[in-house]
Amino acid sequence: MIIQLQPDISDSQKENLILKVNGIGYKTTEVKTQLGSYLIGIGKKEFDIRKIGQLDGIIDIHIVSDEYKLVSKKWKVKPTSIDLGDNVFIKEGEMAVITGPCSIETEEQIRAVVAHCIENDIKMMRGGVFKPRSSPYAFRGLGLDGLKLWHEIASEAGIKIVTEVMQTSQIEEMYPYVDVYQVGARNSQNFNLLDELGKVDKAVMIKRGISGTIEELLQSAEYVFSGGNEKLILCERGIRTYERASRNTLDLNAIPILKAKSHLPVIVDPSHGIGIRAYVPQMALAGVMAGADGIIYESHEVPEKAYSDGQQTLDFAQSARLASWIRESFEMRKGFDLL
Ligand code: PEP
Ligand code: MN
Repeated sequence: MIIQLQPDISDSQKENLILKVNGIGYKTTEVKTQLGSYLIGIGKKEFDIRKIGQLDGIIDIHIVSDEYKLVSKKWKVKPTSIDLGDNVFIKEGEMAVITGPCSIETEEQIRAVVAHCIENDIKMMRGGVFKPRSSPYAFRGLGLDGLKLWHEIASEAGIKIVTEVMQTSQIEEMYPYVDVYQVGARNSQNFNLLDELGKVDKAVMIKRGISGTIEELLQSAEYVFSGGNEKLILCERGIRTYERASRNTLDLNAIPILKAKSHLPVIVDPSHGIGIRAYVPQMALAGVMAGADGIIYESHEVPEKAYSDGQQTLDFAQSARLASWIRESFEMRKGFDLL
């Protein structure tokens, strides 16, 4: 169960509430976020909801018996809107377009991508400065200095930064320079990292694990929410299946399912999802039509020269076309009244 607490609940009201909830055989955990306070009750016994619901200090009580609770749509029907400032949102009802290279490489490259974003009215730029690479000999990113440089150029242009955080020790040093912390597929179940991101007052985008289920993705999001951070975005980026013809298998099914199960915005990464440049646009548009709230894809001024993931990276002409197709498709989708 989720009990939404009044912001001004007194200590004695809370004590009494916990006593009553424990009394019906439920263990309790208190969760305080930037937006509210909750008491989570874990147990199996049936009980009369009115017994708790009438107590003082409560806004509402909801029965959510899934493993994930706070990220569930069962108690919060209103979709979560992520406000990145300067009128940039990731939320249902809008279509977020996020593009940029796999890795941040040079100052010239940052300037080129920022200019490309401005030209195409793209407000969010992706790029890795800490890169999780399958091979230790591959390029592993420019690190914090690269992020600082990127932030200097992007913030001047009003472009928001989406970038991966790989470990807890990076959270604080990155904080002044990021708008959205990305949790990569390989870290999707790094529970220490998720716990720590719960303490941060900045948006977090969690990618689905390489072999992660939808339920596991939601539970990862639950870690961050229950740690205190409600500013969450879910990202479908393809999963590992027996299929070898594409890099991953973009699970389009996950989009309507996540949207139905959770109030969090869902975005799709077709670049890692299929891993083949020529097919990225199709999969991006399929993601839009399946109900995504945003698309994140890789682009670079000369993809063939990219330090990483060039094979799935669009050039700027392709990216410009795709950005406008994404928007057109989104307009068309609005007429379908999904869900
Ligand atoms: C990336 O976004 O460049 C990346 C490494 O993604 P993923 O964690 O989905 O592999
Ligand atoms: Mn990449």
